[in-house]
Amino acid sequence: MIRAYKFLIRPTVGQQAALGEMLREHCSLYNGALQERRDAYRHASKTGITYGQQSAQLKEIRAFDPERQGRWSFSSQQATLRRLDKAFAAFFRRVKSGDAPGYPRFRGVNSFDTVGFPKDGDGCRWNSTPHDPVTRVRFQGIGHVKVNQHRPVAGTVKTVSVKREGRHWYVVLTAEQVQPEPLPPTGSAVGIDMGIANFLADSGGEFVPNPRYGRRAAAKLEAAQQALSRFPRVRRDKRTANHRRAVEKVAQLHRKVRLQRLDHAHKTALALVREHDFIAHEDLKIRNMVKAPTPKPDPDRPGGFLPNGAAAKAGLNHSISDAGWGVFLTILHAKAESAGREVIAVDPRNTSRTCPTCGHVSAENRPTQEKFHCVSCGHSAHADTVGALNVLRAGLVRRDAQPA
Ligand SMILES: [Zn+2]
Repeated sequence: MIRAYKFLIRPTVGQQAALGEMLREHCSLYNGALQERRDAYRHASKTGITYGQQSAQLKEIRAFDPERQGRWSFSSQQATLRRLDKAFAAFFRRVKSGDAPGYPRFRGVNSFDTVGFPKDGDGCRWNSTPHDPVTRVRFQGIGHVKVNQHRPVAGTVKTVSVKREGRHWYVVLTAEQVQPEPLPPTGSAVGIDMGIANFLADSGGEFVPNPRYGRRAAAKLEAAQQALSRFPRVRRDKRTANHRRAVEKVAQLHRKVRLQRLDHAHKTALALVREHDFIAHEDLKIRNMVKAPTPKPDPDRPGGFLPNGAAAKAGLNHSISDAGWGVFLTILHAKAESAGREVIAVDPRNTSRTCPTCGHVSAENRPTQEKFHCVSCGHSAHADTVGALNVLRAGLVRRDAQPA
């Protein structure tokens, strides 16, 4: 399985200039090779010039112009010539099929925005400083460039390209992941209910408590932020060594919490995927639309409502946790796919108020946040377990309704 990744990179001022030159000189190589083909096409015959012939001249071109052409990777230059070859192949294909295509055109420096490296390690190196906490990518003639790596890269990096978009630079990777063996079936199906007190409850009555890494780190983070606030607000390059250390400390604490959350999400998802063939969860998008904070009726004013600060706070808590749930569900879906498990998202409406025993639906079935007590049949259980059971039921209904 091949996956593509795109990350923003943060070149220094000097690296930005060098990247600009790299694009410009690959562009002039492209245009020079195009010129040669145009001349051959016009004068000689229809046989034209091949990629092999042009690639064979690269050595001479590099030796002739070591300042401008010789400093870049041989492989990225070959890739540029191959791009031209593809443009010609498409052109001739369309001529043959009776179209009147435009002849391949010269590229302006502004429209030529990508340099590709067909193989990691050849003229470029992904993760060139593996012992450094900051990911970097190295390009021949440029150096090690910082990468904003917002998600992990799974598998082996195959190709690397650098791309300019407006004022920003990106690195685009393709990575190949070996397809893992599907897990053996367990015959088990589960529903999960995601919450605040418990990260999730499952339909079997188990709970995964919310780890609250943020809260644990809060004291340290507050101290670090206070230390940082003592420094005057100045430009990044005007900061003293102590100031820079204070900035780094805050960033490091945030990073730690993020990694802990990610690790927790991976472990929780892995446990579910190992144990169950089928997993149903609430659809977060629908849930956000329907689970707005409940307004409190004003007892002194029929039809009126009390200002509800608690509700606003609950909403905020939810939105913070939402990010965590979103990450968790993404990981769950990915793991389930590679293990051959089925995951279904269901409409969460009424999952917290429906009695799993008799089917009675009522808000009164839920006297408190934690408790479920059916007003019709008396069934009583933890509210989150009931929610998870209803999610599982809805998921199974949806699965059976799908054409096999
Ligand atoms: Zn009931």
